[in-house]
Amino acid sequence: MNTHDMQLQRRRFLQWAAASALMASAATQAQVRSSAHIVIVGAGAAGISMAARLRAQLRGARITLLGAAQQHVYQPGLTLVAAGLWRPEQVVEPQSRWIPKGIEWVAEDAAEIDPVAKRVTTGGGRRLSYDFLVVATGLELAYDAIEGFGPEMIGSNGIGCVYGGPEAALATYRMMEQVVEKGGEALLTLPHTPLKCAGAPLKLTFILDDLLRRRGARERTRVRFHSSLPVVFGVPSVNSRVLELWRERDIGVVFERRLVGLDATRRVAVFSTKEGKVEEPYTYVHVVPPMRAPSVVRNSPLAIRQGGLAEGGWLDVDKGTLRHQQFADVFGCGDINGTPRGKTAATVKKSGIVAAANLAAVIAGQEPKLQFDGYTSCPMVTSYGRAMLIEFDYDGRLTPSIPGVEPLVESWFAWFLEERMLKPAYYAMLKGWT
Ligand SMILES: Cc1cc2nc3c(=O)[nH]c(=O)nc-3n(C[C@H](O)[C@H](O)[C@H](O)COP(=O)(O)OP(=O)(O)OC[C@H]3O[C@@H](n4cnc5c(N)ncnc54)[C@H](O)[C@@H]3O)c2cc1C
Repeated sequence: MNTHDMQLQRRRFLQWAAASALMASAATQAQVRSSAHIVIVGAGAAGISMAARLRAQLRGARITLLGAAQQHVYQPGLTLVAAGLWRPEQVVEPQSRWIPKGIEWVAEDAAEIDPVAKRVTTGGGRRLSYDFLVVATGLELAYDAIEGFGPEMIGSNGIGCVYGGPEAALATYRMMEQVVEKGGEALLTLPHTPLKCAGAPLKLTFILDDLLRRRGARERTRVRFHSSLPVVFGVPSVNSRVLELWRERDIGVVFERRLVGLDATRRVAVFSTKEGKVEEPYTYVHVVPPMRAPSVVRNSPLAIRQGGLAEGGWLDVDKGTLRHQQFADVFGCGDINGTPRGKTAATVKKSGIVAAANLAAVIAGQEPKLQFDGYTSCPMVTSYGRAMLIEFDYDGRLTPSIPGVEPLVESWFAWFLEERMLKPAYYAMLKGWT
């Protein structure tokens, strides 16, 4: 790409960003007067941005944000930490910095939600009654679903896991460096459950392949991806494109193999298959634990009880309005939502606009006004310096939004978005600006 093309794409991106910001502010212009008490459970990407949006849209309401975490992790940056490009400190900020003004922050987690009594009880025993509730707890990594594995094992015996947090992401890079050094068997895995940033395990596979090539070590390492599913990505066109790129790069794929155990001292991974359990020796393994709703939702009347999403206990919201299906005064935002797709910060950004506007409408005595289309986005890193900007909706339709950026084409520009633009965009979202 020449300098003129890069400038053109940059200009188009800035026009797109300005248009998005205008759309967000258009959705939030009307202010609702109310003395209602709104409790938001979870102070992550969704909880903080919902607090900021509701603060802007409601006049006179009391908003309480519940969450014990003292640090805010910019999770999309974990992939760059695991790629050896960013330091863990670059993705961590004090939580207090992002709590919007005029919001009451209770630095405790919720232990119980009773949507009939309209009450949340904190871990410390404090009881908070609400008029309206926003559930934004994110999700939980089910480490216990893999026998012999625990988060403390990340960074030893060849085990990596980008999902484990900033230090685990750095340890993942160290484990990748070891296999680059020694060569051997690299296994990368994908669980059977919905997961946040479903692109991250694929990105880590591309990154390892590129690292091996750059260090001249590709020949001595076999790289194989083990998917629990018959695909590696839920959107068919993206799945085909990734498999095509992996064929070209000699990355093997094994389908319908679920990681169920690790024997770290022997460096053996145990997979369940249709034919029974199989053992695979590894030099490096990237573990992606199954994911589920935190128990405060999973074990509450708010969880989905039927269908494929019941196993994870996800929040039972209408996928369009993001309002709870049984409890009309409850809305959901973020990874906790039991919607067909969309566990990304990009989803939080677009769906937060819908959830906040709909909640404000309900508080004003109206029906929800906006419908969420399932927008999900993921810059699919395909090597150091290149990515594909993939955006799609609930139906798996590609929805490219930046003029001139083709979704299934690798480009430096998509990489630039991942590396330079997403972090400021994320923090603008926390402020409720976009
Ligand atoms: C490795 C990785 C790469 C990613 N890459 C991308 C990417 O490239 N692009 C993208 O858009 N997204 C990406 N994401 C996904 C994105 O970070 C999440 O989708 C987003 O953070 C979801 O926001 P959330 O608020 O729902 O959950 P979180 O941000 O996880 O926040 C949930 C909060 O709720 C709190 N909580 C949990 N239980 C309770 C309780 N009982 N009471 C109170 N609080 C509770 C948690 O402590 C946490 O603070 C990535 C994520 C990871 C892990």
